[in-house]
Amino acid sequence: MTWEGGKGICRSVPLPNEAKDLKPTTIELIFENLNDAVTNWRDRVIKVLPDALPELVLDTPFRDSKSGEARVQRTDFQMTSPDKVGYVPYPLLYRCGICGSTREFDSVADQARQPLPRKCNGHEARWTQVDVVYAHWSGDIEPLSPFNYNFDPQTDTARQIKMCTCGSSSFKLRNAAPVFSEWRYVCEGCGETRALKKANPDTLERLPIQQNDGGRQFQWIEVNMLPVSYRANSTFYVQRTSFIVFEDSAVVELMTPKRRDGLVARLAKIHEIPFTEPSEDEIRKSVEADPTRVGEWDEYETYLRMAEKAESSGRADAARRHRDAATDLRETWFADGIADRGQLGSPAVLQAIAVREDWTRRYDPIRLTVQHDAFVREHIDQAMTRHAAVDVMDPDVALTDVVNDPTRKAKYQHTVGSLLSHLGMERLVLIRGLPICEFSFGYTRVSATPIYQREHNGQRVDMPVRLKAFDQLPIADNKRPIYVTQQLNEALYFRLDEARVLRWLEANQIVDAPGDHVGRAYLERYADFGPFLEEFKDREGQGGYPRTLPAYVYLLLHTLSHQMMHSLADTSGVDRDGIGEHIFPADLSFVIYRKGMTPDLGNISAMWRNYAEAFLKRALDPRTLRCGSGSLCDARGGACPACVMVSEVSCLASNLLLSRSVLKGGKGPEWEPRTAPNLVGYFDPSIA
Ligand SMILES: [Zn+2]
Ligand SMILES: [Zn+2]
Ligand SMILES: [Zn+2]
Ligand SMILES: [Zn+2]
Repeated sequence: MTWEGGKGICRSVPLPNEAKDLKPTTIELIFENLNDAVTNWRDRVIKVLPDALPELVLDTPFRDSKSGEARVQRTDFQMTSPDKVGYVPYPLLYRCGICGSTREFDSVADQARQPLPRKCNGHEARWTQVDVVYAHWSGDIEPLSPFNYNFDPQTDTARQIKMCTCGSSSFKLRNAAPVFSEWRYVCEGCGETRALKKANPDTLERLPIQQNDGGRQFQWIEVNMLPVSYRANSTFYVQRTSFIVFEDSAVVELMTPKRRDGLVARLAKIHEIPFTEPSEDEIRKSVEADPTRVGEWDEYETYLRMAEKAESSGRADAARRHRDAATDLRETWFADGIADRGQLGSPAVLQAIAVREDWTRRYDPIRLTVQHDAFVREHIDQAMTRHAAVDVMDPDVALTDVVNDPTRKAKYQHTVGSLLSHLGMERLVLIRGLPICEFSFGYTRVSATPIYQREHNGQRVDMPVRLKAFDQLPIADNKRPIYVTQQLNEALYFRLDEARVLRWLEANQIVDAPGDHVGRAYLERYADFGPFLEEFKDREGQGGYPRTLPAYVYLLLHTLSHQMMHSLADTSGVDRDGIGEHIFPADLSFVIYRKGMTPDLGNISAMWRNYAEAFLKRALDPRTLRCGSGSLCDARGGACPACVMVSEVSCLASNLLLSRSVLKGGKGPEWEPRTAPNLVGYFDPSIA
């Protein structure tokens, strides 16, 4: 960043400012999401560059030092509020505007000890910071000094020789040329010139060692840094992610192996899977019959009584604590085989629970089912009681002023109801304050994404971009900050009409389509989509066929989600890149929400008041379901940036598993063989 009207340039340094108002479940979710982000970063690098050194892919706090794999330890991080940040002058390289002579300092203290001289080469000096730095995709920056690093094979270290061969250590910087490649350092002793070239010391210390150990041959373009303006974006890309906040600790706790039985019971309830559960009385008898468990049933009942008492006196946290203690105790009886937990009537769901640990988390339908359950309870049902959410078919006066006029209200309900039914939506809820947590956990340089392609002799060479944690906080254990902000944002929740989905699945010859209970069938038939959705890329006719339920349900929900995101951006003025999506596949629903912490002029409530009809009609409009970009999009998959795609940062699924054909009919998705029959669209009157 620049400082004081461009007079001096600074870089930000973390200050201790712990974020103390975070709920335990939020912290759990931050680490869960961080783990995902870090794992995903590594996966994306390794896929392109399998030989990349682990330490050049992930910074120390993000990886296991032995295996090199992604690993996040809570004790290395501190939740931090971003409203207090320090600044120090940087870079400490100065150039005299009169003669071009340069001075460099190692630190602010070094500069304080021996300040810049008033006189320079016999004239009044005019020192300014050199605002061009060397940046490297490994995450380092260095001042633009004339002294390069060399690898010393004796010590296996990078050494900087701060002197010209003539013995002089003074250099002038000739920077009049418009391109960095023509800038030169000139030795003030002998007049020798140097082009801008500096190795990244960290990379220079590693790649020759890898090579000498019989590993990959390295090239200098992997090591040499790039001169860039310190004011340019490319010197610092903040890495951040956001998620929906939940109060219910089940969204994290039920995911742990310890609570497997609780998860089984919950899934059975949500998706109406037959489940024979023992009665409380049967459990009590089993516990009391076991000599090693004397008194535990009484203890269990005491916890429950204390929870009830706390609840009735309004101490929600204490109530939760007691209830958790009761649940923990009860779970030990099941885990230790003292009492029988009950039988789930779906071996396939039990199998899914057993293997889901290896699934890519963002598509894990079991996790998303539990989240959806909490979502409806907290962000819809409970929110409705405080007017923080409203079903558009049952509007309040804040949503639309028709509520005061029975005739207009009936007309509104008829219009909206009929559009929703054309869209195949069973429910649409506007949520006025969906709690969104956004956190930034690190940064990268040169590239915002895991692979940087460096141009070299007309070729592009792939470089691993290192994900860096923020600098250490000046506190005990030198923890790294995670900057957290929480905000209530507007959102729209959509749930599809299950009967219509079933007709659509059947019309498209989905081989494993069930007769009912799509959610349960989704859990039973789901197989890991994987981090890159490889199966759903263009397989040049070699992809999976016949059609299966999970892929098609996801394809439908995801395409509808994008269609509504576009519609929202067009009718509300909300920035397209500022809309996020969240898909609950087994519950046939999705949410689109304002992600941004950046205020724009759009808002969803105002959109609904003024343009509700236009918003829904646009989604159905045949014109928005055609693509203007030419026949390629129509022939191959039916999704491109000109139509249904959104920006990479807004999409959950890398713009895969998308196709306009699922709505309007036409060629099947890109992974299917060309011979696959055309799709019947979800909007087709024949299945409505
Ligand atoms: Zn000078
Ligand atoms: Zn010299
Ligand atoms: Zn297109
Ligand atoms: Zn998407």
